[in-house]
Amino acid sequence: SRIKEVEFVKSSGRAKDCPKDDRPEFAILGRSNVGKSSLINALVRKKEVALTSKKPGKTQLINHFLVNKSWYIVDLPGYGFAKAPDAAQMDWSSFTKGYFLNRDTLVAVLLLVDASVPPQKIDLDCANWLGRNNIPMTFAFTKCDKMKASKGKRPDENIRDFQQLIRQNYREHPPWIMTSSVTGLGRDELLLHMSQLRNY
Ligand code: GDP
Repeated sequence: SRIKEVEFVKSSGRAKDCPKDDRPEFAILGRSNVGKSSLINALVRKKEVALTSKKPGKTQLINHFLVNKSWYIVDLPGYGFAKAPDAAQMDWSSFTKGYFLNRDTLVAVLLLVDASVPPQKIDLDCANWLGRNNIPMTFAFTKCDKMKASKGKRPDENIRDFQQLIRQNYREHPPWIMTSSVTGLGRDELLLHMSQLRNY
């Protein structure tokens, strides 16, 4: 499951414009600021790679990275910008939903959820939408290294609360992995998980 090589392939404005080969891919999705760029960088151990999507104009695009010439990591636009008007969120919906519903080579979505804060409605809404549409997903809880704020809960407590809410809507809880881009927690587990899903 080692990553030997990563290559930025392209940014696409629509699902139709994504690479047309049949290599399997994993889409990485989450609220903006969830730690998506940090996690992608930790996975590929290359500082430059995920930064591509941070360049102005690329944040609203579907970015394909080819790993070991055999599978893709796909960086999707973040959702739930704190200060974005409703219109911006609507925009995310139609555009990204089109990708999910039409991408045959999508193996699974890695849905990033910030473990340093209590469950957020927008994350639950997103998970439930993916679930309703039968899109396989794995939860990657981010920032698991964070100490609790003075009155806050610990990451493991936030995760437990989140899972309890998710269980109300699923017969089987989707796979989940605790990660930290600071300590490297979950990195190997996530890579192994993705290689198992690819070979399934
Ligand atoms: P993105 O907007 O989802 O791409 O999020 P970034 O990767 O840019 O991270 C957002 C903020 O969270 C930055 O200040 C990061 O330093 C911080 N961050 C990201 N991952 C972690 C983590 O695993 N642990 C901690 N403590 N902070 C993190």
